[in-house]
This record gives sequence, structure tokens and C-alpha cells, in this order.
Amino acid sequence: MKIVMLGAPGAGKGTQAKKIAESFGVPHISTGDIFRANIKNNTELGKKAKVYMDKGELVPDELVVDLIMDRFSEPDCSNGYVLDGYPRTIPQAEALDSALKANNDSLDFAVNVDVPDEEIISRMSGRRACLKCGATYHTSFNPPKEEGVCDKCGEALVQREDDKEETVKNRLGVYHEQTEPLEKYYAEAGLLHNVDGTKNMDEVFDSIKIIIG
Ligand code: ADP
Ligand code: ADP
Ligand code: ZN
Repeated sequence: MKIVMLGAPGAGKGTQAKKIAESFGVPHISTGDIFRANIKNNTELGKKAKVYMDKGELVPDELVVDLIMDRFSEPDCSNGYVLDGYPRTIPQAEALDSALKANNDSLDFAVNVDVPDEEIISRMSGRRACLKCGATYHTSFNPPKEEGVCDKCGEALVQREDDKEETVKNRLGVYHEQTEPLEKYYAEAGLLHNVDGTKNMDEVFDSIKIIIG
């Protein structure tokens, strides 16, 4: 099963992608997580990506496409994957399509998690992230058992630098301009499914399960 998650920053793509990955036994691939791991390890890729991420801009397509193609070649992708945060531009979607086509393969679903901008701002201000294992929490909607500590690995939780309000506004602008056109792209391919992302996390997952079976 190959799924693409669409939606604004903070819509809940990662939260739902993790649930899908767990239930359906496919890897959750988040390009944002891969970049953050590279930044943490101070790699060349991390240094390049950080400049864009800090400003709330997109990392250039060439860097992202190379990275995702590398990831697909790993053995855990043989049964599919759930992509979270890729593609974010039409050229990225086209690169994915041609890579799949070259293997006589195709995507199964594009799931768009729909949340209005006003709600995004409040979600992002409460988001806390574990930079060690990738788990995400929310101070009100999904708090960890112990404040500031990751349930899964015990690491201290942080507010992402790019989740500060000014950067979030910038990211929303970038989203509307460069990523939202993917809805039409996948609708034309007959793959787009919209879910109401304003419901609680379990209800959103229920609507996704109805779509992907
Ligand atoms: P969010 O969880 O808010 O959707 P991500 O963790 O997916 O954010 O991404 C964080 C940042 O990483 C983005 O703002 C962007 O700078 C960079 N990034 C992640 N994925 C991509 C991509 N596919 N193309 C370009 N930039 C990306
Ligand atoms: P994305 O990957 O789209 O950027 P996340 O999955 O990281 O979004 O979610 C953004 C924030 O909102 C996180 O703090 C998360 O815990 C919280 N969140 C996710 N889904 C919901 C929901 N349905 N209701 C309320 N808060 C949510
Ligand atoms: Zn953790």
C-alpha cells in the first residue's frame, strides 16, 4: 500500500501517518523527520536544509527528491509506505510518479487532512516534538504522561524552532502557494480523498480507515 498524506503544516499528517503505519505494517516516511535527524547529526544535507527550514521555506526539490529516492531503495519499502510531508510541490509529485511508473507501480491513495488556517496556529503553538524518536505531542490535545518528557524514549521534548508563530504564518503561505495545488493534481489522477481534520485524532483515523480499508 502506497499512501501520500496531504495537508497544511500542523494538520495532523504525522499523527495519522504513524497510526496508518502501525495498523497496516508499512513504514512512515517523513521528509521533515529525515531532515531534522540530519541537522541533529550535523551532516552536509542537514546544514543545507536548515537554512530553508528555519525560515519556513521549502528545501529545494533536487535535495528532497534525491533523499526520498534513496529512502525508497531500503528493504522496508517493499510493501509500500505512507509518505508524510512528501510531495510538497508539483515537481516532487511528478518525480514520484515517474519513479513509480519506471517500476510499473502506482500510488493507492492521497489523503488530504483538511484543517482551516485559524486552527493551525493554535495547534502549532502546542506541538512538542521528540527529536530522538520522532514522536509528537500536544500540550492540550495529546499531552505526554510526564510533562516535557517523551513517553516512548524518555528524551526531553522541545518546541520546534519553526513552530514559532511568525514562522508558522510563513509556512502556511508557502503551503497555499506551493503545496495546495497538489490537491487538484491528485484529484485529476482519481486518488484524492478529503478528511475533516478538525475532529479528534481517533475520529480522523476512523475516517481514514474507511477510505483505505
Ligand atoms: P510539518 O510537520 O509542519 O508539516 P515537516 O516536518 O513535514 O513539517 O517539515 C518541516 C520543514 O522541512 C518544512 O517547512 C520544509 O522546510 C522542510 N521539508 C520537509 N519536507 C519537505 C519537502 N518534501 N520539500 C521541501 N521541503 C521539505
Ligand atoms: P503535521 O504532521 O501535519 O505537521 P502533526 O501530526 O505533527 O501535524 O500535528 C500537529 C499538532 O497538532 C501536534 O501537536 C499534534 O499532537 C496535534 N494534533 C494532531 N491531530 C490533532 C487532532 N485531530 N486534534 C487536535 N490536535 C491534533
Ligand atoms: Zn522519543
